[in-house]
Amino acid sequence: MDFAGRIYELLAFLVTERIYRVSFAVTLGFALAVLVVDLHRREYRLNWPLRLVKSVAANIGFWWVNLLFAPIVFLTSGYIKEGYAALGIPSIDESVWLGVPWWILIPFAALCYDFADYWNHRILHHRWLWPIHAIHHSDPDLNVLTSYRIHFLELLVMTTSYILLLSWLGFPTDVMGYGAILLTLHNMYVHMNVDWSHGPFRYVLASPRMHQWHHADLPEAYGKNLANVFPVFDLLFGTYYVPGPCKEQFGVKDAPQNDVVKLVLYPFAEWGRNAAAMTRSVKFDKDSERKLPETE
Ligand SMILES: [Zn+2]
Ligand SMILES: [Zn+2]
Repeated sequence: MDFAGRIYELLAFLVTERIYRVSFAVTLGFALAVLVVDLHRREYRLNWPLRLVKSVAANIGFWWVNLLFAPIVFLTSGYIKEGYAALGIPSIDESVWLGVPWWILIPFAALCYDFADYWNHRILHHRWLWPIHAIHHSDPDLNVLTSYRIHFLELLVMTTSYILLLSWLGFPTDVMGYGAILLTLHNMYVHMNVDWSHGPFRYVLASPRMHQWHHADLPEAYGKNLANVFPVFDLLFGTYYVPGPCKEQFGVKDAPQNDVVKLVLYPFAEWGRNAAAMTRSVKFDKDSERKLPETE
């Protein structure tokens, strides 16, 4: 299918598919509910500090930028899926899941994806991919909308792996759709500015407190709490870190705070700077015939 054909198919899909309308209504409903609770907590005075207003505006900006980039995600995953079928890679048949109730199937699909997401996330914390993921960490004030502060390249990686993995496991399309809604809602929830720890269930479901430690600008917490939904992956792979309530500073010192344009361009600028620095150090290496300096 040509490019224009794919764009047309995407637009038709967005308008006709019920799952998109449900997803939009549910996420908007959740965001409004959080706003009402916050207003109630502040005795119906919207006395948000200016920094929070800027953070929320930037997050909404990102939401829209990513909507503009949605066709890229769609095009890429479409091509990969076609290649996948053409390569004849064996995959699990949808009939395997017949008779499994939806309330088991949807959380199970979310668990399968969370395993992949843990490793995606761990790789995004590697120094070469960090400039992409630093955008998510750049928010100096965590709020439900921080979950939408994602660079489009990260969105591409996450969405493509979601579609590839769950299609390979043979999950029905509606299970994949509702699974995505569940993950989106939980992701908004863990970015709420509340100190909820989930008490005895803290190892079962990731809490806002756990995710706040992931955002803490503190060396001990860097690269910790990478699982989005199920802390079991952090416990298994040694990255669980919740020493108590999180009172640390959030954000990334070197990244722009709330400027959407600068943030979208940030990874490209950083890679340019890193490549230039590497070229300089290689030249220095040749000149002095010394070993390359450790840059880690
Ligand atoms: Zn992270
Ligand atoms: Zn986060």
